[in-house]
Amino acid sequence: MAKRFVVLGGGPAGNTAASVAASHGAEVTLVEREVVGGAAHLRDCVPSKAMIATGNALRDLDRAAARGLRAAGSIDDAALRARVSDMQARLTDDVTRLLDSQGVRLLRGAGRLTGPHRVAVTHGGGTEEIEADAILLATGSRARIPDWAPVDGERVLSTRDAYPPPEIPEHLVVVGSGVTGVEFTHMFSALGSRVTLVVSRQQVLPSKDAEVAAVLEDEFLRRGVELLKGARAHAMRREGDRVVVVCEDGRTVEGSHGLLCIGSVPNSEDLGLAAAGVEASPSGHVPGNRHCQTNVPHIYSAGDLSGRLPLSSVATAQGRSVAEHVMGLTTVEHRHLEYDKAAQAVFTDPEIAEVGVAEAEAFAAGAKLRVTKVPFSANARALINGDPRGFAKLLSDPATGVVLGGVVVGRNASELISVVAVAVSNRLRAADLVDALLVHPALTESVAEAAT
Ligand SMILES: Cc1cc2nc3c(=O)[nH]c(=O)nc-3n(C[C@H](O)[C@H](O)[C@H](O)COP(=O)(O)OP(=O)(O)OC[C@H]3O[C@@H](n4cnc5c(N)ncnc54)[C@H](O)[C@@H]3O)c2cc1C
Repeated sequence: MAKRFVVLGGGPAGNTAASVAASHGAEVTLVEREVVGGAAHLRDCVPSKAMIATGNALRDLDRAAARGLRAAGSIDDAALRARVSDMQARLTDDVTRLLDSQGVRLLRGAGRLTGPHRVAVTHGGGTEEIEADAILLATGSRARIPDWAPVDGERVLSTRDAYPPPEIPEHLVVVGSGVTGVEFTHMFSALGSRVTLVVSRQQVLPSKDAEVAAVLEDEFLRRGVELLKGARAHAMRREGDRVVVVCEDGRTVEGSHGLLCIGSVPNSEDLGLAAAGVEASPSGHVPGNRHCQTNVPHIYSAGDLSGRLPLSSVATAQGRSVAEHVMGLTTVEHRHLEYDKAAQAVFTDPEIAEVGVAEAEAFAAGAKLRVTKVPFSANARALINGDPRGFAKLLSDPATGVVLGGVVVGRNASELISVVAVAVSNRLRAADLVDALLVHPALTESVAEAAT
């Protein structure tokens, strides 16, 4: 009899697991209460990167003169909105069609565990109970909204209200300067909003190297973004058409809109975890082992719910790994996901991308590192592009030459980092990058040059 596999949540973790398990012969039911493709398609990755691309195109027009062009542009709000929703619909249709073609049963409704092998799904006005041999919990996360911020989706926004936004704000106050906060700051300032960024520490992107954060801060200041540093917001209120943010030290800032970018919380409270004996962490995440198994071995957890790196790419990889484990395709030697080798990008302008060991942390821990850095200002393609900002940096083991990590800041950094990520994952030596015969003129040449 085919293995009965039930997946709760149709985001990158859930739909990948459903698809891979179905391709190996499982009888799969995918339960999704909103949209197949998940928050990733509906509110996060896809709409954010689509709108950032439009903002970048506008900024490229500003730089056009450097490339011998006379050009100017402005936003067509309705066209931008239509482009984002067309893209969401297209990607969601693609996933749905694939799952259909693989015979995955798609149930539109909310699911919860009612026992170790049972799931109840509320759909079509009733409740259906399904028996399962294996279950994946992949219900994702939602924006964290504190008591002090009365989010109304109109002027007081969470990250999930902003794609597309109700309107392009005249003056946006962004609270939170992690990856999401700086991406929104970049996007709205590129689209023409005045932006004030409330930064709780002394640098944006507090988890990144100061050198990297400084490049972004300089760029923001050059564009007129106001940085309110060392300011911890503790109240946000709406006063008519204005939004006022109050900081703990008494400073206030007022704008036409406020946007909270202060992290996310897992969607675990209505999952019936106790009914199946599944343990959650104090934060509400459902942790798993290296196969993503929870404390109940046939119940798995993946994606944002698992409390690992909250990235779509990681969720997808976990989903694949779960499906393979459920179908018995793994052995003890099965390649485990190496979360510390996940490439990460910040989609600002310039982009920031990194992979592997973090330089400051490694030095603080007493590690020996060879650090080599090449600016794009010496790269022919960067000059041709009219955008020589940023650098490529490579971190390697001085004894063996093995590439341990890298940072790229500049145009297309999110793509360029892939070269370093492949090297890090496969323990390639810096010399292997140097020996590759690369295209000229190309930005990748700077990555290879940093390897010499
Ligand atoms: C603004 C923003 C931008 C981002 N940009 C990027 C990016 O560029 N690159 C990147 O890698 N990551 C990005 N992320 C992170 C990424 O969106 C998440 O890591 C990813 O969506 C997690 O996937 P998931 O499968 O865990 O969950 P989700 O995509 O959240 O999907 C979970 C699904 O489960 C459904 N669900 C919840 N409860 C139930 C239930 N009880 N029954 C049935 N269905 C249920 C939900 O409706 C949802 O569709 C971004 C996040 C944010 C907030």
